[in-house]
Amino acid sequence: MELYALPVGDCSCPFEVVAPGVYDGMRAHIPVTSYLIRLPGDQLALVDTGMNRLHVDDPDLTWRGKPQAAMLTPVMRPEDSLLYRLAQLDIAPQDIDYVINTHLHFDHAGNNDLLGNATFFVQREQYELAKDNPAYPNQYWNLPSLSYELLDGEQELFPGIRAIPTSGHTPGHQSVLLRLPETGSLILCGDAVYCQENYDHDSWGSQADPKTARESALKLRALADAEQATMFYGHDREQARTMRWAPTSSYR
Ligand SMILES: [Zn+2]
Repeated sequence: MELYALPVGDCSCPFEVVAPGVYDGMRAHIPVTSYLIRLPGDQLALVDTGMNRLHVDDPDLTWRGKPQAAMLTPVMRPEDSLLYRLAQLDIAPQDIDYVINTHLHFDHAGNNDLLGNATFFVQREQYELAKDNPAYPNQYWNLPSLSYELLDGEQELFPGIRAIPTSGHTPGHQSVLLRLPETGSLILCGDAVYCQENYDHDSWGSQADPKTARESALKLRALADAEQATMFYGHDREQARTMRWAPTSSYR
C-alpha cells in the first residue's frame, strides 16, 4: 500500500475561518489536499477530491453572489487540477475504484463528478444532511451517475484502512486511519482538525459544533498516541511545507 499526497490548490480565506482568536484579521492561503492510495492488488482509492478543476479559470465559480464569496476564494494553477495531478501519475479518472469523502464540502468533493467508476464511501448522516443543501454544492457530487455506499459509524473499509467518525466540523464528518508498511500509521484528519493552531490555542469556534469538534479532535489525538500515528490536518500551511508531495514522493 502506498499513499500519494496530491496538492490541489489553495483557498484564500480569513484565518478566523480555520482558527478564530489566533491571527484574526489576517487573510491566509490554506492548502487543499487530495490523497491517492494504491491498494494491494493495484486498485486505486482517493481520500477527498479537492476543489472543482474549473476554478482554475473561474475562482468565483462556486460562491459568486453568495455570502461565502467574501470568505472562500479558490487559488488554483492549471497543475492544481485533480485531473492534472492524476495524469502526473499516469492515472485517468476512470481508473479510480473507490473514493472516501471525509465530507461533502466544495473543497473535499469538488471533483467527485469525474469519477464515474468509483464507489464513494460517505457517512450516511453527512450524505443526508448535504443532499439538496446549498452549503454543500450538489452539482459536484450529487449525480445519478455516481454510486455512494453510506456508512453508519466506524468501519474497516480495506485491510489497514479504517473510517473514523469525527463529527463537529459537520455532522457525519469522518477521518481515515491508514496503516502503511514502512511509514507506520497515518491519520488523514480531514477538517476534524484544520491545522496545528486548533490544538495549540484550543480554538474550535469556527467548527459548526465547536464542542463536538473538540471532542472529535481529542479522540483523534488519543488515537494518534495509541497508534503512534502521524496526523495530516485538513488545511495546515506549515505542515504543507514538510509533506512529501506527489508525483516525486510518496508514503509507503
Ligand atoms: Zn476543507
